[in-house]
Amino acid sequence: MRVSASKAGLYTRCQWWARDDAPEWPSDSDAMKRGSEFHRLIDAHIKGGATPIPDGEMADMVAAAAALVDYLGGREMFRAEIAFAWDPMLDDAIEIQVVDRDYSAYPHCMCGTADIVWLDLEAGLGFVSDWKSGDGSKAGDQLRCLAMMLARTYGLSRVDVESWEVSASGVNILCRESLDEFAIDGIAAELQQAFKASDYYMEQGYEVHPNPGSHCADMYCPAVASCPAVHSAISQTGLVQASELTRKFVPKIESPEHAAWLLDMSRAVTKAAYAVKDAVTAAMPEGGYVMTDGTRLYQSTRNVQRLDVSALKALAKARGATDADIESCTRRVQEPAGIRMRKAK
Ligand code: SF4
Repeated sequence: MRVSASKAGLYTRCQWWARDDAPEWPSDSDAMKRGSEFHRLIDAHIKGGATPIPDGEMADMVAAAAALVDYLGGREMFRAEIAFAWDPMLDDAIEIQVVDRDYSAYPHCMCGTADIVWLDLEAGLGFVSDWKSGDGSKAGDQLRCLAMMLARTYGLSRVDVESWEVSASGVNILCRESLDEFAIDGIAAELQQAFKASDYYMEQGYEVHPNPGSHCADMYCPAVASCPAVHSAISQTGLVQASELTRKFVPKIESPEHAAWLLDMSRAVTKAAYAVKDAVTAAMPEGGYVMTDGTRLYQSTRNVQRLDVSALKALAKARGATDADIESCTRRVQEPAGIRMRKAK
């Protein structure tokens, strides 16, 4: 089963991507690398290892996370990186030992790893948390799934969950929830329902179709570039023929020309998607769109705090800082600057 707890929310909304034969596009973004590095460092800290931490933002993030752990009772109180395997047929779970979150030894189970676990077996209580180095507000489904796995493993009657969103300036606690036995049974039942559309049931003649919606993008569907529902939407833009999409939109790069074609098309499709989004926004009536069930689609706003670097530099200079002082506060990093094409001479 290719579904882990981190994709539980997507799985309950659409099961097409979770089929064994659904092609998955590999993803290796900078944000993912940064998240993995942070997890490795804070895990080593909680387990008591003396891991060297690079200077800069990462050091600030690990320090902020470590301070939270110490404030809540110290590293002895928590267990880190605890993996579970939940069998949807039996609705039962076990704690498992895995390396690098490789769950292939449990093909019939939904697996997941909790970053932080706390247990009081006598009282039947548990706690699960997950570090998020990006947006932590979307971790609710994953945390609820991990809470259910923890409860099923240890027979708990209540599990509290929290998402710990870490940045260099501190830890934001989000998605705080207390799940009792009824809530935990509900989570298991919802996942069992989704499981009925999985490969196991397909072998018995059930069909599974894509179910497109906001979750495709919001929940990072790993098959978004291969999905027939998305291909159908792209081909309606007129940018790419449907036949080209199924023939050439494949995760395996077949030639340098194929790589160039994929890049050109992905840029064109992105532009088309933004044009559609802009058109929807431009045509939005006062108060937004109201759907037949009363749901409202509207342009929201939020207050964000942004540091004005120019104002900060001017202030520093007014207070006596020299250009050399300001330069000494500048960190230079080398980062990818896009893929370029150079013609052969
Ligand atoms: S892109 Fe959307 S509809 Fe297609 S498989 Fe993913 S979640 Fe399902």
